[in-house]
Amino acid sequence: MVDVGCVNPSSNCNINGNQESPKKPKDKKMKKKKKRGGSKKKMTVEQALAFKAVNEWVYLDQQLVVDDFDFGVQKTVMMRRDKVVFELHSHSKSSDGFLSPSKLVERAHGNGVKVLALTDHDTMSGIPEATEAARRFGIKIIPGVEISTIFSPRNPEAEEPVHILAYYSSGGPARFDELERFLAKIRDGRYLRAKEMVLKLNKLKLPLKWEHVTRIAGKGVAPGRLHVARAMVEAGYVENLKQAFARYLYDGGPAYSTGNEPLPEEAVQLICETGGVAVLAHPWALKNPVAIIQRLKDAGLHGMEVYRSDGKLAVYSDLADAYGLLKLGGSDYHGRGGNSESALGSVSLPAVALHDFLKVARPIWYRAIKNIFERYAEEPSDSNLARITKFGGTKILKGNSSMSCGKDLIDRCLSLWLTTEEGQTCDLEAIKTKLSYVKINQGGIHVPIERN
Ligand SMILES: [Zn+2]
Ligand SMILES: [Zn+2]
Repeated sequence: MVDVGCVNPSSNCNINGNQESPKKPKDKKMKKKKKRGGSKKKMTVEQALAFKAVNEWVYLDQQLVVDDFDFGVQKTVMMRRDKVVFELHSHSKSSDGFLSPSKLVERAHGNGVKVLALTDHDTMSGIPEATEAARRFGIKIIPGVEISTIFSPRNPEAEEPVHILAYYSSGGPARFDELERFLAKIRDGRYLRAKEMVLKLNKLKLPLKWEHVTRIAGKGVAPGRLHVARAMVEAGYVENLKQAFARYLYDGGPAYSTGNEPLPEEAVQLICETGGVAVLAHPWALKNPVAIIQRLKDAGLHGMEVYRSDGKLAVYSDLADAYGLLKLGGSDYHGRGGNSESALGSVSLPAVALHDFLKVARPIWYRAIKNIFERYAEEPSDSNLARITKFGGTKILKGNSSMSCGKDLIDRCLSLWLTTEEGQTCDLEAIKTKLSYVKINQGGIHVPIERN
């Protein structure tokens, strides 16, 4: 959540991308909590079915060894896979996180995460690296993005930043170019905005160098508020990041500046149109959650974050119920280190919540995948192929005879994301037939790292 909007000392979210709460969970606590929730309580039938369905999706591409003699399929699955951790909100160096996408994946794996959504601010540039690393560790990446927007009610004083999370399939956004243009505009706005903040600081007799900020942000990364704050700490103008925000950079603060953000409803609509699941991030950081949720629900919002490391927030959970929204959540991990940040994978999402998420997401993702392959079948260009392989981590081996035509590609992609039945629908079979005549041009495509 850090960076663009939600950092506001008056709200209950702090500069560390976490939420101030009486019980701040730390790593140890989180482990304890998980153990407690794990095996001792007996599952209800609903929970057991949800658990089974979620497990099946998570391990779609992996053969389950089923012991038919003793327990039967269901029991064996549940015993072998005792927990599935989803981390649905994380940041890498591609925006304002501290870890590279591959390091982030490594850390996720170390923390027992099985499904990781990389949701950098206004960019999906870290996804290919994350997907490739995820193949090494046998975990699934949900290609995601956290979009910076500004809610703009009639009363301009009630304007406030809103972050929308988008979750896509292994094929990525259905109309990637359109989404990318949308995100690029926000990123360009962030450059201007960071420049404006530096200018304001200079006027406040804190002469910060623009080069300093861009150096901290790193090559090709749109600088944000956190990068400005880090430069301020390094220059010795403030003692720590918290002070930089509390004194200068908070929403409406003396060095605060707005960027070029779209309206949240525009972001939600575009996510829906490009085959993604749209989720409102950290609603507890909002001044006007009800007005915003109302408007976004009309625009097609699917869910909202209500779970944090310290548990479910009843008030937002009730709001989600009232508006028929999915109840999700993630750690919003930035990799800063230290105790003030919730650990990656520390948000415990119940199997029923994950099952509900997948029930909504999978038909959306199915349509997006179909759409993407339809486009490729119509126009089997290298650029369309590159777009598919980029998000799915389905790299093509040079000289690999097992993947010589478009049908092989679609089979490989689908096995990671769709069940056999989903992959065998008439629609997809028709596309596959078309693609069986399409030779894959292997020139210029990287040699993959193959698992197994
Ligand atoms: Zn975030
Ligand atoms: Zn955020």
